[in-house]
Amino acid sequence: MELVLKKYFGYSQFRPYQKEIILKILDGQDCLVVMATGSGKSLCYQVPPLVRGKTAIVISPLLSLMQDQVMSLKQRGIKADYLGSTQINRAVQSEAESGSFDVLYMTPEKACLLPSRFWIKLLSVGICLLAVDEAHCISEWGHDFRKEYKQLYTLRGLLPSVPFVALTATATEKYALSFCQGLFSWVRNDIICSLNMNDPYIAIGSFDRQNLFYGAKSFSRSQSFLDELVTEVSKYSANAGSTIIYCTTVKDAEQICESLRNAGIKSGIYHGQMSSKAREESHRSFIRDELQVMVATVAFGMGIDKPNIRCVIHYGCPKSLETYYQESGRCGRDGLTSICWLYYSRSDFAKVDFYCAEAQSENQRKAIMESFRAAEKYCMLAACRRKFLLQYFGERNTNDCGNCDNCSGCKRERDLSRESFLLLSCIRSCGGRWGLNMPIDVLRGSHSRKILDNNFDKLPLHGLGKDYSATWWKALAALLLADDYLKDNIQDSYRLVSVSLRGLQFLRSASTVHQTPLVLALTSEMID
Ligand code: ADP
Ligand code: ZN
Repeated sequence: MELVLKKYFGYSQFRPYQKEIILKILDGQDCLVVMATGSGKSLCYQVPPLVRGKTAIVISPLLSLMQDQVMSLKQRGIKADYLGSTQINRAVQSEAESGSFDVLYMTPEKACLLPSRFWIKLLSVGICLLAVDEAHCISEWGHDFRKEYKQLYTLRGLLPSVPFVALTATATEKYALSFCQGLFSWVRNDIICSLNMNDPYIAIGSFDRQNLFYGAKSFSRSQSFLDELVTEVSKYSANAGSTIIYCTTVKDAEQICESLRNAGIKSGIYHGQMSSKAREESHRSFIRDELQVMVATVAFGMGIDKPNIRCVIHYGCPKSLETYYQESGRCGRDGLTSICWLYYSRSDFAKVDFYCAEAQSENQRKAIMESFRAAEKYCMLAACRRKFLLQYFGERNTNDCGNCDNCSGCKRERDLSRESFLLLSCIRSCGGRWGLNMPIDVLRGSHSRKILDNNFDKLPLHGLGKDYSATWWKALAALLLADDYLKDNIQDSYRLVSVSLRGLQFLRSASTVHQTPLVLALTSEMID
């Protein structure tokens, strides 16, 4: 095994989990591999065929991805090819039947269309494994559901003794429940059930990507911000390596792409409204380093197997923390230092209703809401971002990382006892029946209809918080929510905020002499 690794790939050591997984496959066991992008999942299905001298079948969702992988395998002297869904390539097919490939890629559609005599012939010469890459596409609860993936279970019937290997970088276990084989299950179980896997070996790697720096800042869509962004990106693209900018709308993507091009930065665009041909072309030029920057929507998803992406910028809060982690994780695959910046604006947070509208059930709606709220929290976080991400993905015992904006020098702390006292008291005085806008408007001394109707202009606190902007107060509220001084309660996508037990204790102690100051780290919105 080590010889194969050295001979074909030039590496002298396996990375964590690779060897265990390969041994299990060689042993004939099904495997589920959940590991971060860039951790070396592909090697797990590329080594066994070389050891055994039998073909590995790899199901992969994207043509361009298969082409790149095939090219790089061929360069290493490995016999590889692919079968796309539309193209009828009899030559490749009949060569494949005789078992002459080490690795044969195909789309899920193609895999289901191939006649059973193809599989029987290939089986007679030997199939080493069947790998399903991007396996989360199987789950209706994943964010990339593809119905063709569901049909892959028919292959299980045809190839009962071939080990199936499902691979994904989608970490979370927090998706809604799904109904599979009479049992409620999570995404990971969904994959196992849908592929009819038999007692699989499950390898779950750490999701920590130590070479990535994480940061988030608030912004507002304006020409001056665009100019700033262009300057920043040109700084990154001056060195070798590329950048992806993820946008939440096609309009944003077009605008940014144009600004970058005007500044002489070679930029491409990728979104769902483009023809599949145009998308593939764009993807290919990016992979081949003909572009410095790719401006894209979520449509630019799977199979971005490019080692030298130095920076992933999010222009707008993404729809879930899972999506964010996967998209930002596309940089630094080569292990070199890379940067993940997220720019968010308050208006992004209102989009949750729009995302929830896609839900087909109450459970799904809750799941969407929860992962969106997690992304929102991440934006406004004042504590270590990596710790927050890893904890969200179920990793315990993580420490502050020293490699995010909040851990490194940018963090500033201040005694916010007075401001917290004002905000908590005001939320209490308003009776806990509101979101954040009402108490903040009261603090800022508004005389709006709603405030007069409720007699809130008579409150002694009315107008005491004029010195700060509404955004500033909201940022403080996010800190107090994160530290459990406030609690929120979401009703029909309307969010009520009230003072928690801890908040009440703080209010009580604040009126005594021996009050301990409430020192909080300021978020970017609170620093001018
Ligand atoms: P994934 O599929 O998990 O996103 P890849 O399989 O594309 O990750 O691997 C990411 C990078 O790591 C590739 O450039 C690959 O060649 C490299 N790599 C994989 N295994 C090893 C290893 N054992 N030693 C050194 N580099 C490795
Ligand atoms: Zn940190």
